Amino acid sequence: MEELVPVVCPWCSVGCRLYIVSVNGHPRKIEWDYDHPNTPNKGKLCPKGVASYQFTISPDRLKKPLIKRNGKFEEVSWEEAIRYVAQKFKEIIEEHGPEALAFLGSERCSLEDNYVLQKLARALGTNNVEFAGRLCQSSNFVARSKVFGSPAQTNPFEDIVKSKVILVWGYNPAETNPVLFGQYFEKALDNGAKIIVVDPIKTKTAKFADIHLQPYPGTDLAVALAMLNYIIKNELYDRKFVEERTDNFEELAKSVEEYTPEWAEKVSEVPAGMIKRAAELLATGGNATIVLNEGVNQHANGTMTALAIANLIAITGNIGKEGVFSGVIPGAHCGLCAAVPGVNCAQLPGPVPLNEENAKKFSELWGFEVPRKPGLHYQAIFKAMAEGKMKGIFIMGQNPARSLANSSLIEEALEKAFVVVSDIFPTETTKFADVILPAASWYEKTGTVITQNRRVMRSFKAVKPPGEAKPDWEILVMLARELGVGEYFNYSSVDDILREINRAIPALKGATPERLNSNLEGCFYPCPDEKSETPRLFLNGFPTKTGRAQLAPVKWIQPGEVPDEEYPLWLTNFRQVGHFHTGTMSMRSKSLIKRWPEGFLMINPEDAKALGIRDGDRVRVETRRGSLVVRAMVTDRIRKGVVAMPWHWGVNFLTKDDAIDEFSKMPELKAVTCRVTKEVVE
Ligand code: SF4
Repeated sequence: MEELVPVVCPWCSVGCRLYIVSVNGHPRKIEWDYDHPNTPNKGKLCPKGVASYQFTISPDRLKKPLIKRNGKFEEVSWEEAIRYVAQKFKEIIEEHGPEALAFLGSERCSLEDNYVLQKLARALGTNNVEFAGRLCQSSNFVARSKVFGSPAQTNPFEDIVKSKVILVWGYNPAETNPVLFGQYFEKALDNGAKIIVVDPIKTKTAKFADIHLQPYPGTDLAVALAMLNYIIKNELYDRKFVEERTDNFEELAKSVEEYTPEWAEKVSEVPAGMIKRAAELLATGGNATIVLNEGVNQHANGTMTALAIANLIAITGNIGKEGVFSGVIPGAHCGLCAAVPGVNCAQLPGPVPLNEENAKKFSELWGFEVPRKPGLHYQAIFKAMAEGKMKGIFIMGQNPARSLANSSLIEEALEKAFVVVSDIFPTETTKFADVILPAASWYEKTGTVITQNRRVMRSFKAVKPPGEAKPDWEILVMLARELGVGEYFNYSSVDDILREINRAIPALKGATPERLNSNLEGCFYPCPDEKSETPRLFLNGFPTKTGRAQLAPVKWIQPGEVPDEEYPLWLTNFRQVGHFHTGTMSMRSKSLIKRWPEGFLMINPEDAKALGIRDGDRVRVETRRGSLVVRAMVTDRIRKGVVAMPWHWGVNFLTKDDAIDEFSKMPELKAVTCRVTKEVVE
């Protein structure tokens, strides 16, 4: 039987709608969805969206539960696998306490999967529950929460088109979110908007730039401080907005007094004149869209940079009204599916802080005592594991052996614990697993997604899972029952879980199964009842103590390491349109791997010449943590003194785990130092 099933793309957070055409539960092709004009993509798809079912039919799919015995994986029944995991987890809890266990959720899974995962961790007595958002957007999350009282993206994508100025910081939407760029950014440019890009690389987005600032990696903060300094000193800020809707302006102004554009030029090598032009355009050019991404967030000084940018948004009055837009657009499709239900060591569903009042509220709702002690953050979980203190971990749809800074240390840590991985493919992490559980992929289950634009939508099961693979929430419920806490997980369908979420999270009360199943365009979160939604935030105030934005003093923080004689070049990394994260899915998608077949190193012609490197040579890239061999791409798209690799190809063997942002706990993933040598072929 042929079916046309409505789904949401499983890759990035734009949340494009499409159809899967399936015959008897097997995918045949995709169809563009022009039937729902209020969805973000309005029918359009990028190459990843078009290829989005290919990985589901890869022969590499995990089909049976596996237990490692004598170093080899053996196929077992679900009953045996779940019994074995539960027995080991019970032993760990008995001998070392529940805090010796950790659970990792996933931005690749649904709202329901992640809700059940964090609840199981808490039912067992631990708040060691995290997901990769810690490694992606946590710096911006902390900064915006401090200034605006909420990290959320503010306006619908349609408001980008109404903006007169676009500031894109550490983000390349033309490559990483092409549908968003084509549908909204390009239309704003066609309407005459000016665009400022801050990125050390001449990206596809930078080709459209009126002003392109190219700071050294890790020195974006200097540029942001100087823009604040220039706008305040020259009284270019939005005086009415500052007076009526912000607090602490004097403290902010004092904190940036010494950070002149000339000072920033010395630190970042961005000409002071260009910083001034960018600041002037942002402050006086009209309504602005201000977007940032990993190029800002993934640094040990990421929160301070994001804080400086949040201040810029506030003092230029580009928030809390129509025709402006600000926020992040993550690479993964459902970071909010994990962040909102509290897959966080210090937050509960909402998300709300893990404090006595909220813990009590959830204890009453769930029927068991929620642990009060905050858990460990992502990188700290693996540090504790390396020290032998974290004895067991349940990893749902994550590949920390490649996604965490300094990967070789993570591999050593995984060897020391009882590791359970539920995933759709063997990964670098499953090599270290004791038990592997085959999970259903995105198109093989029904689930709720919250796109980064705060649109809550349903994606429906279009394809049969291979072999015995199951949706993650079903796996977790089986495990809960075997662990003796099944009474709190009385779900027989994904709708049962969503109904509990409607009760647990007031802002999602109106996102009921009935509403989402019948309206494919979904609704904007917060939606406190079934009739309402919130496309624009902060129109009448901010969720802070005073209802006004809290401008925050800022200061310069040096990057985690700077070039020296031994390691003279900056190394940074970026995403490619054809790949996704560590490549477990995109590298198994035929059309993507054919077109984007391998990693490479971008190097400026002057640096290449000095090192005797020609385009296409194999080169060794070496940092204090390790080395990789890749092909050189000699190009002036990268500035002199900096080299860059797409991060999907194991770049985290080279990144730094011991420089961590003190506020967000983000490791230094984007600015390390390296040396490059030509690889001699014998
Ligand atoms: Fe999928 Fe993102 Fe491409 Fe849309 S832009 S098709 S959500 S990868």
